[in-house]
Amino acid sequence: MRGLMQERPLLISSFLTFAATYHKDREIVTRTVEGPIHRYTYADCERRARKLANGLKGLGLGFGDVVGTLAWNTYRHLEVWYGVSGQGMVCHTINPRLFPDQIAYIANHAEDKALLVDLTFVPLIEKLLPHLSGVKHFIIMTDRAHMPETKIPGALCYEELVEGASEDFEWPEFDENTASSLCYTSGTTGNPKGVLYSHRSTALHSMVANGKDALGMGSADTILPVVPMFHANAWSIPYGAPMAGAKLVMPGAAMDGASIYELLETEGVTMTAAVPTVWLMLLQYLEKDNRPLTTLKRVVIGGSAAPRSMIETFETKYGVTVCHAWGMTEMSPLGTLGALKAGMETLPLEKRLDIQCKQGRAVYLVDMKITDDDGNELPRDGVAFGHLMVRGPWIAGSYIKGDGGDILDKDGYFDTGDVATLDPEGFMQITDRAKDVIKSGGEWISSIDLENAAVGHPAVAEAAVIGVYHPKWDERPLLIVVKKPGQDLTKDEMVAYLGGKIAKWWMPDDVVFVDELPHTATGKLLKTKLREDFKDYKLPTIVAAE
Ligand code: AMP
Repeated sequence: MRGLMQERPLLISSFLTFAATYHKDREIVTRTVEGPIHRYTYADCERRARKLANGLKGLGLGFGDVVGTLAWNTYRHLEVWYGVSGQGMVCHTINPRLFPDQIAYIANHAEDKALLVDLTFVPLIEKLLPHLSGVKHFIIMTDRAHMPETKIPGALCYEELVEGASEDFEWPEFDENTASSLCYTSGTTGNPKGVLYSHRSTALHSMVANGKDALGMGSADTILPVVPMFHANAWSIPYGAPMAGAKLVMPGAAMDGASIYELLETEGVTMTAAVPTVWLMLLQYLEKDNRPLTTLKRVVIGGSAAPRSMIETFETKYGVTVCHAWGMTEMSPLGTLGALKAGMETLPLEKRLDIQCKQGRAVYLVDMKITDDDGNELPRDGVAFGHLMVRGPWIAGSYIKGDGGDILDKDGYFDTGDVATLDPEGFMQITDRAKDVIKSGGEWISSIDLENAAVGHPAVAEAAVIGVYHPKWDERPLLIVVKKPGQDLTKDEMVAYLGGKIAKWWMPDDVVFVDELPHTATGKLLKTKLREDFKDYKLPTIVAAE
């Protein structure tokens, strides 16, 4: 027997029309790419998204066409998300930090018909023009006064397109399984692969992401997504905030400590989210002049492992709760979040930190298991570690154009490429990327654990650990450290600090100091580059043995 409830499709346009109806005066504040702060409301945003929808239609674009963006988090980018997906086109966020040839590859592979580009990226597009023959329309996301001199033929001005279009537009209804948006993985090897989200997957993901133990967004919140809209949908915040009626604060192109701090304080931000490198910068900025955080209650940290010292500093020095999160582009992206369970709040700090350093618990509708190399499930005892496999309605079933072939196991699970433990309370802890784990004498050493221990030292700004060839052990860990400005630190001091914090046999065989570490386009340590740079590195433990 079928249920008799209304079959209303889950569509992205409804997030914004809901906000424009029930939270119409709630603000969206942007630090614009041009400089000044811009503020308007959800009602304004929805009206302009309708105008943009008409403007794009006027260019001959239609249902199913892919429209690319190279843009920061701004109110205009938000209008594009809704104006494009809301009318059944596919919004393709491109990460501008990728190598230029990867950007051209992605735009062509996705068959982008139009590209909407922030002022920052006009020179990049000019360089790529000969490789972007499929793109029919280039729209520069600014007003007439700021339109640059450009070689881009027929470049359109965003404000003219929007303001010149009628607001008379009704958000269409269509199948909720229609593609809504597209994001390419920032693969460190091989070509990036496209993950194609649907309206249904996006709606379900955003609803669960808004839950109290997840991002926990409500109408009284003011949310600053520092995580870019081109990095795995800004972890769904630009979808969930209008659903919740929360005030949105968009940081534009300025991601330095001073700019983020100014927005946090002047806009009364209560929740924010970004990768650890952003928070390293902010904490260093706060430390310098003893600045307080007066309104922030919660910070979501994900994308890479949040170091223990960072979680502790936010909590004990600034009174801000850290929610550690894990996910990936293929998962829309959220898979686990680290809200404490009943009774855990009152544990002593050290015990609580042990839990918060883990990447969190699966959210509703994400099935998770760990397996050995043969696909057998391993125990959820917090000790056994194996391949982390996931399944759920907002997790990729395949990549676009069949890239990568069949990506699910016989039970429909996707291999995340991460190695992890699951504990009896359901908390998952990433041991490493399968590719980055250090294989020493047949045993595994977690590069993440070593990095986290190293950044706990007050003189360390950032640390990376890679496996380096060793004739006896196969691989041994090499610790590569960036010191905080003006700080002194020797190898012996570093080793002494790690003593007692890690298993003895995990101790790095050497410590080298560098000025900076390479990062991927989404702010993760670029281990492939480090392994390349240090491929001929001779560990002192080998030299000594010779
Ligand atoms: P991306 O698709 O670029 O967001 O990358 C996803 C990958 O980032 C995951 O498979 C993990 O390897 C890594 N990652 C994401 N969040 C975390 C976290 N909290 N701790 C450790 N690694 C993480």
